[in-house]
Order: sequence, then structure tokens, then C-alpha cells
Amino acid sequence: MGRGIGRYTAALLCAAGLCVGTLSLAAGSNAAKTRPAQGMETGALAGWIVAVDAGHGGYDGGAVGRQSGVAEKGLNLDVARRLARLLQAEGAQVVMTRTDDYALCDEDPPIRKKLQDMQRRAQIVREAGAQVLLSVHMNEYGDAAQSGPQVFYREGCAAGRLLAGALQEALIAGLAPPRERAAMGGDYYILELGIPSALVECGFLSNAREEGLLLDAEYRQRVAEAICAGLLEWAALPGPRPTPLPPAQDA
Ligand SMILES: [Zn+2]
Repeated sequence: MGRGIGRYTAALLCAAGLCVGTLSLAAGSNAAKTRPAQGMETGALAGWIVAVDAGHGGYDGGAVGRQSGVAEKGLNLDVARRLARLLQAEGAQVVMTRTDDYALCDEDPPIRKKLQDMQRRAQIVREAGAQVLLSVHMNEYGDAAQSGPQVFYREGCAAGRLLAGALQEALIAGLAPPRERAAMGGDYYILELGIPSALVECGFLSNAREEGLLLDAEYRQRVAEAICAGLLEWAALPGPRPTPLPPAQDA
């Protein structure tokens, strides 16, 4: 299980503009006890370690744009990168489960690729000691009329439900979609890591209007800003949620 993780961890640490600072990702480390780096302690999300998961990658393109043929994986990564920058600007430490166009599974044998990919994403999130996870996806559906961003959480996770609700509201407020959806419980592997988690379906690539929007970088920036705004709302809520690490103290 450990083999291969080092490779992806290395990729994680050296991706342009998406360094996780001094956050330790060494195998077996307890990064949850790692204090934020000096100079990163200010901002509303200071002390938070946020995992950002760009869905799919590599052999797994995900949903396909009905008009353009564009693969979901690239759009997810773009939104995830934008989101990571915004979260870092708010003081959060960000760990990304992937930083380029690859899957996290071995090339051979091609058996159980998807499960291995998901297990390795989970391992990155756990080793980083992330307190909250945001997974970025694009939706598709047979009925091209379906549209609107929608957020999913693990059924039974109260903090995740609150998080998904805050994200859903922020997406509606920020993007003003014609169809306003509600956050829903969902059965996704990435939501099962034991931390508050939400999977954001940013919109439908099967809907011509929304596909056009999602292909536009400016709109994807607005999506990322809405997700960041939702996380900020949630992080400021009273109630059951993980205690953020204390800000680093000056020595
Ligand atoms: Zn997806």
C-alpha cells in the first residue's frame, strides 16, 4: 500500500504554486499536530488544514461535455487549483490529492484501478491531518435539461451536512443558477474519511448552458470563490466541528 504513495506525495509537494508549506506528509507522521508555518497564521482559516480533491484524472476522465467533449478531470483540477489559492489566502494550509492530470493508481495491473486511486487519495488526506475535505466534480445526466451546482455529504455526518449546506447556499448566492438545488446525502468513498467532507458537483456538463459556463475560466473562478465563501461560513459556525489547530505562536 505504501509503494507509490511516496511518488504522489512528492508530486504534491513540488507542484507549482500549490506547495503545502511545511506541512509534513511523511508516512506515519501525525500532521494533525503540526502547527501552521510562520507567516501563514493570519486569516479566517488560520490553523485549518483543508484537503482539496480534484475528482478523476489520468485514465479516468469523468463526465464528458456533451457539446465540447471536454473531460471533467481538467475542469475539476482547474477549479481545485483556484480554490486552493483562495483558501491559502485565507490562511489555510491546503493539501491537494492530485496536482496534475494523473490517476493515483498503478499502471499495471489495471485491476481495481478506481479503488486504488481512491485509497491513495484517502491516504494523502489522512497523512496530511486534514480537518475538512472538499472534493470537486462536474455532473452529467441523461436529461440535458438538468442543471445547477449540487453539494453532497456523507449521510449521518452532522458537520458534513452543515458544511454541504453552507457550500450549497454560497454556490447559489455566488452563481445564481436558474435551478437552485439542495445539498443531499450521498454515498461516495471520498466522503468516508471520518472528517467533515463535501463533494461539490459544480454543474452539469450535459446541460449546454452550464457546460458553456464551466468552460469559461472566469466562471470557474466564481465557482471557486463560492466554495471558499461557503467554507468560511461553515468554519465560523458554532456547533460540532473539528477544532482547528491553534495558530502558530511567535517564538
Ligand atoms: Zn466526477
